[in-house]
Amino acid sequence: MCGIIGYVGPRNAQNVLVDALRRMEYRGYDSAGIAVGTDDGLVWRKKAGKLSNLEAELAASPIPASHIGIGHTRWATHGAPTDANAHPHISADGRVALIHNGIIENFAPLRAELEAQGVAFRSQTDSEVASQLVAREIAQGAGLADAMRAVSRRLEGAFTLVAMDAQNPDLLVASRRNSPLVMGVGEGEMFVASDVAAFIEFTREAVEMGQDVVVEVTRDSWKVTDFDGTP
Ligand code: GLU
Repeated sequence: MCGIIGYVGPRNAQNVLVDALRRMEYRGYDSAGIAVGTDDGLVWRKKAGKLSNLEAELAASPIPASHIGIGHTRWATHGAPTDANAHPHISADGRVALIHNGIIENFAPLRAELEAQGVAFRSQTDSEVASQLVAREIAQGAGLADAMRAVSRRLEGAFTLVAMDAQNPDLLVASRRNSPLVMGVGEGEMFVASDVAAFIEFTREAVEMGQDVVVEVTRDSWKVTDFDGTP
């Protein structure tokens, strides 16, 4: 279980995300990636190996400035440390970007269920079932937060998840079970992370999340519910 960061606010998200991943490097990892929301949809870069590999990729292939994004350092449990298996995972329809720390123990039957419906997977990870399931809920009419609650109810194991929806680039939704999640409350900006080290440079207002919760954050609001939607 390595590093998770989500950011929404006035700063350039790429800089905040890479900085946060740098601050969580001490935890160890084998790959790193970020995704940001833009007017033209999600944009992401991910690379196996050191964070410097991701930074080189971002320098060679720059991404647009954005005010919302997610970042991840991975310690592989399912699938080799490759670019494709690095997080974020983008759903087959391009709508959802999601990062995961932990292990989804029942990923195999969930993956089989989705593949039987024609969903094309792009990685060997356990994590990708979560991005594809969230996208399926959204395709069936759910908002991102309801989709995350529905998916969280189905996952077994340990997870911190953070997701964003290409068509709602003001909102991050995070979820946790048996894995840490902390929210950072700034002045007109919000952070969600696996570790306060990720955002301590930007705010000292931190809220540690309890077990089995979903948190919805925009740059100036937050809401916490259980997996059934009870505040
Ligand atoms: N189980 C996931 C994977 O192998 C997440 C590992 C992690 O916590 O970094 O990709």
